[in-house]
Amino acid sequence: MQCTSCNTGHLKPSTLDTTLTCQTCSNCGGNWIKLEDYIEWLKTQTPQQAVVDEIGVEVDTVESAQALLCPETGAIMTKFRITSDTDHKIDWCNKSSSMWLDKGEWQLLKNKGVADKLNQIFSSEYQQEIIEQTTRNSREMMMINKIGEENYSRLKLVRTWLHEQSDENKALMVSFLVMRDPFMDKATDKIMDKKPD
Ligand SMILES: [Zn+2]
Repeated sequence: MQCTSCNTGHLKPSTLDTTLTCQTCSNCGGNWIKLEDYIEWLKTQTPQQAVVDEIGVEVDTVESAQALLCPETGAIMTKFRITSDTDHKIDWCNKSSSMWLDKGEWQLLKNKGVADKLNQIFSSEYQQEIIEQTTRNSREMMMINKIGEENYSRLKLVRTWLHEQSDENKALMVSFLVMRDPFMDKATDKIMDKKPD
């Protein structure tokens, strides 16, 4: 079968981790995996702990940005993000129940601790979580760019500390922080005079 990713190589029977049956491209090194083979492999695995951000693991990967066609059915495969901290995506074909991993992506899945959780990756809840996490990360980066890394880390400490206080004290402390003259401000008076229920 011809490789639909590089359109040059051929898919040859092969294995990942010696037991996961797949077909590997002779040119780009991508792997085509049938769901049934993945499930067989999964049965032999003990659940992994998710170890996101494993330090010091460099993986030689490529990522095909363009839409990929299933080598078997010719249908356009759907892309699923792996985690929020990588742009790598797995391509999935619903018709043939098979997936495409670019070169190195299997190792990446293992490093991220999600090689045995592909069924989760294909779920809409998981993909939604990734979108939310990505939004959170990019907003945090905007904040850091705006106020600087040192200010941001101080601010985070203050925030954690504030959230450890009772609601009543928190309001008082926040107003103390932001008011120009806290002890002469009406808003502070209101909080200070508030009688406990
Ligand atoms: Zn190829």
